[in-house]
Parts: sequence; structure tokens; C-alpha cells
Amino acid sequence: MKKVYKYLEEFKNEPHYLASVNAFLSGIKEENISEDKLLVLITPNHIIEFDVEWTDDLGKKHTEKGWRVQHSNKLGVYKGGIRFSNTVTLDILKALAFEQTLKNSLTGLPLGGAKGGSTFDPTHKSENEIKRFIKAFMEKLSPILGSNVDVPAGDLGVGQKEVTLMQKEYERVLNTKDITFTSKLINYGGSYLRSEATGYGLCYMVNEALKSRFGTTIKDKTLIVSGSGNVGLHAAFKARELGAKVIGVSDISGTIYDDQGIDLTFIKALKANRESFANYLVKHKHAKYSPYPKALWEIKADIVLPCATQDEINTEDIAKIVSNKPLLIAEGSNLGLTLKAVEYLVKKEILFIPGKAANSGGVAVSYFEMLQNKEGVSWSESEVDTRLKDVMKNVFRRINEYALKHNYPYDLKRAADIVALLTLLK
Ligand code: NDP
Repeated sequence: MKKVYKYLEEFKNEPHYLASVNAFLSGIKEENISEDKLLVLITPNHIIEFDVEWTDDLGKKHTEKGWRVQHSNKLGVYKGGIRFSNTVTLDILKALAFEQTLKNSLTGLPLGGAKGGSTFDPTHKSENEIKRFIKAFMEKLSPILGSNVDVPAGDLGVGQKEVTLMQKEYERVLNTKDITFTSKLINYGGSYLRSEATGYGLCYMVNEALKSRFGTTIKDKTLIVSGSGNVGLHAAFKARELGAKVIGVSDISGTIYDDQGIDLTFIKALKANRESFANYLVKHKHAKYSPYPKALWEIKADIVLPCATQDEINTEDIAKIVSNKPLLIAEGSNLGLTLKAVEYLVKKEILFIPGKAANSGGVAVSYFEMLQNKEGVSWSESEVDTRLKDVMKNVFRRINEYALKHNYPYDLKRAADIVALLTLLK
């Protein structure tokens, strides 16, 4: 693959994009795909880069970077979330847009792949500051969006409220009634279960994997979840509803271990009040708190769900996790495990479901939201839930069958990449 690697030399300063593409290329190297086709596949169609000027509550002006990476529209409109975080870089967005393209093709739905975001960090910003930032951001972003072109959603730091604000700003800037965002508030054209979809879908896939690989279910299994945001908390609640015992959770403020089962309602309240997890012990004296989010990886559990951010599990973390002999690890976060960590799991023969499959519930329900908006209807919660379960089962079936057929049962990442590739080349 000389031509491809020569092209990639240009991106020496983009380690996330390179790591993502290189891992993909090494997984599909036996497929004998032409270099020209591969070049098209790994190259984003468009990158839109802009500055966003906004004013804080004290009248001080700030400038942030903004981007939209439209990776591929081969299978349908560009689709992928918008992220606000001071960790956002073009490199990360390019990696995520590429991964999103693979993920969307795995769902079997007619969706292309994209990702966008800004270096703006909404933490500790007032509501008015966030509104002013979004207004300025959408002035720049709106012209390249559209329900038939590019349909963004939320992501890190961008929830339903912010998405709805962006949709309203899009309408104002372009003077249109076109609906181009998904993950909107329910009273503004959002779908039931959109916010829950990624976390719920993750648990549905874990259940499916446990059934088909180990003849068991999530019921009575112990479970740890990192990140107590949209994905992590919904996954924890759904896992508990399905009979699992959630014994560890984390956020930036640290880790809680509660062998009696985490009081998730209390955790939700702590998050809503922006309180540190240290305060969990006020009500639950028997539990243990560590100020280190990574302390989570030391807790022995049957199921491990990283749901916080990229690279949250490195080689050191994975060695600790593996020493506790979990049944499986499934990524709620995008690129949650470093590639070395994934390779280690494959070598140790521990089942790992990559995010591009395991967290595809969010984009699936986004697609359902697009359909409902186009038809001007609202599906019931149970209808969305049934369809979500079907997508998750189907995605797992596709990658599992491929991995088993080609004799690498523990390399579901490789199987996911190849199944996505073959779908994209059809
Ligand atoms: P949120 O912003 O809602 O939540 C992120 C959570 O992770 C927060 O609780 C945050 O802590 C915590 N966190 C951040 N960094 C760390 C860390 N290093 N260690 C422990 N906890 C940490 O984001 P989402 O839940 O929406 O997204 C999480 C991941 O899932 C991302 O990788 C995202 O790309 C991916 N994803 C999200 C989808 C969605 O539908 N939302 C769809 C598919 C993937 P604190 O609260 O203290 O800040």
C-alpha cells in the first residue's frame, strides 16, 4: 500500500487520524482492495474550518476554532455529532468523522459520515454565554448544512438543549423551516429515546453478545461504567433495568465503588447539581471514593463499559482490567481504547465490541428522528425502542458472523472494519 502510506505521511501531526486509519488499514490488508479505492475511503470529502468570535458575560471577546469534517456521503447525507470541548482538534474530528463513516455503514442505514465541533468549552459557562457562542458558531456553520446534505447531532458538551438552539439558529440564519439537526428536544421535533439511545443500545448489544457468545445474559452480572454523562448514565440505568449490578462509576471528579450496587438516582442528582462524586459517601458510607477517574479500572467486574471519552483506556489500564478477567468490554465512547489496548485484548482473547458497533444506537435513533421529521409524525417510545433493539442485534450479528467465519472470534474491531468497508464499496 505504498501510495496510501505516502499520502498519509502528510498527516504526521495528526496522531488520532493516523492511528484510526492505520488500524483500519492493517485490519483490512488481506482484502486486496485497490489503493485508489482506499485513498477515497480514508480521505475526507470536505473540511470546513472557521473562527468563532463570542463575548462572555463580562464583555470580554474570545475567539474559538470551529470545524466540520464531511468525510463521506457515499451512503447518504453527512451525519455525525458536534462536540464542544477544549480537547477538540481537527485531528480528533478527522479521526471521529472517519470512524463515524464506518459506524454509519455498519448500521445498514443510508447515512454518510461527518463530525464537527469547536474548542469552546461549555463547562462553567453561563446559559447566556453558551447561547451567544452558539449564535456565532451557527452563523459560520449553517450555510453548509441541510436535511438533504449534512445533518448534525449532539456529542460531548452538546446536549438536546444546545442542539435545539443550533437548529433554531440555523432556521434564523438561513431563513428556512428545514430541519437539519437530530437529537432535538422532544417538543421541538426530537424523537423519543434519542438521548437514551446510545446507552440503551450499548446494553442491548452487550446482551446480544453475551447470549450468542456465552449463552448467558446481562442479568446478575457485575458492571462498571466510566463517564456519567449522556451515554454512561443511560447505559448504567438500562443495565440495572436488565438485571445487572452496577458497582462502579466515574466522572472527572473521581470513581465510586459500591459493592451493594450504585445508587444511580443519587449519582444523577450529584451530576445535576454539579457536585463531586466525593459527596456520594455522605449518603452511602459503606462505599469507596477515589479522586482518580482511572481507579475505576481496578474494580473487578464481569462487564466493562468505557463511556467517557477517547483514549480513556491505555495499555496500563487494560492490563489491570484483564487481570480481573471480565467477560467482555464494550465501548460506549468513540475510540475509548487506544489501539494498543485493543490489540492486547485480542491477544488475551477477551471479547471486545468496538464503539463503531456498540455505540451505534445513537445514530440509529437519529435516523429515526430524520424519518419522523420528514413524515411529520412522532413514533411512540416503544416503537423506537423495538427498532433500536433490531438495529443493535443486526449490527452485532453482522460483525459476529464475519469474525467467526474468518476465524478471529476475538477481533470484532477487525470484523467491524471489514463489514463496514464492504458495505461502503458495494
Ligand atoms: P457527556 O459530555 O454527556 O459525558 C461525558 C462524561 O464523561 C462526563 O460525565 C464527564 O465527566 C466524563 N469524563 C470525561 N472525561 C473523563 C475521564 N477522563 N475519565 C472519566 N470520566 C470522564 O458525553 P456523552 O456521554 O454524550 O459522550 C461520551 C462518549 O460517547 C464520547 O466519546 C462520545 O463521542 C461518545 N458517543 C456519544 C453519543 C451520544 O449519543 N451522546 C453517540 C456515540 C458516541 P464530568 O461530568 O465530570 O465532566
